[in-house]
Amino acid sequence: MKTTTVTSNLIQLTRFRFVNTYLVREDDGFTLIDTSLGGGADRMIAAAQRAGGAIRRIALTHGHGDHSGSLDALKERLGDSVEVLIPELDARILAGERVVDGKLPGSWPKGLKTAPDVRLSGGERVGSLEVVPSPGHSPGHVAFLDTRDRSLIAGDVFTTYGRASVSNHFYWRFPFATMATWDRSKDLESAQALRALDPTLLVVGHGPAIRAPREAMDAAIAQAGGR
Ligand SMILES: [Zn+2]
Repeated sequence: MKTTTVTSNLIQLTRFRFVNTYLVREDDGFTLIDTSLGGGADRMIAAAQRAGGAIRRIALTHGHGDHSGSLDALKERLGDSVEVLIPELDARILAGERVVDGKLPGSWPKGLKTAPDVRLSGGERVGSLEVVPSPGHSPGHVAFLDTRDRSLIAGDVFTTYGRASVSNHFYWRFPFATMATWDRSKDLESAQALRALDPTLLVVGHGPAIRAPREAMDAAIAQAGGR
C-alpha cells in the first residue's frame, strides 16, 4: 500500500496501484473515506496510527466492492469505537433491497455484515466534511467537501489517470469506472454539480490528486458531453 500526504489534513492510501482510500484528519483522529477491496483493514489501521491517530469514522462514497471490500474487517477490528456512514440508497442495495428498475452495473458485494450507523443522503456533516449528493455512478453516490480548504473527495464521479475524466463515458486509461456506472446522464449532472463547488483540490477513487482542478474538471465535463 502506498501512502501519499496530499495536504496536512488528507492522506491518500493506494492499493494495487489503482484503488484509493483517504484518511481525513480531525481533532479526535481520522475519518476513513472508502475501504478499498478486501484484505486491506490492517494496513489502513496501521497507516492511521503512523499518521498519529485512530480511525473514528468510516464513510463510503458508494457501495461498489472496491470501496466497501474491507468494511467488515475494519468494523470487526475497530468495533464500537468507529461510526459507519453509508449513502442511503447504496446501503439498501447492499442489504439486498431492489431500489432501482433495470440492471444495476458494478460489483455489489453480497453478504456484507456491517450495517451503517448513519445513512447519508446529502447535506450532512461528517466532522469537517460536508456530504454532497452525486448520484449516477451508483444510485446513492456521495462526495465529501472539506469545509476547511474546499478539498473535494469525489469518489468515482471522476477518474484522474492521465487526465480528469467523467465516469459516464469510456476513457481508455481507466474504463472500469464507466463499466460500473449506473446512470450516465445523472453522473454527468453530478460532475457539473461538483465542479460548481469550486474545489481547490480534487481527489478520486482511482487516480492521482489534482490541485487547482477547475480547468481539468471543465475539460472533463466538455469531453463527457456536458458544458
Ligand atoms: Zn464505483
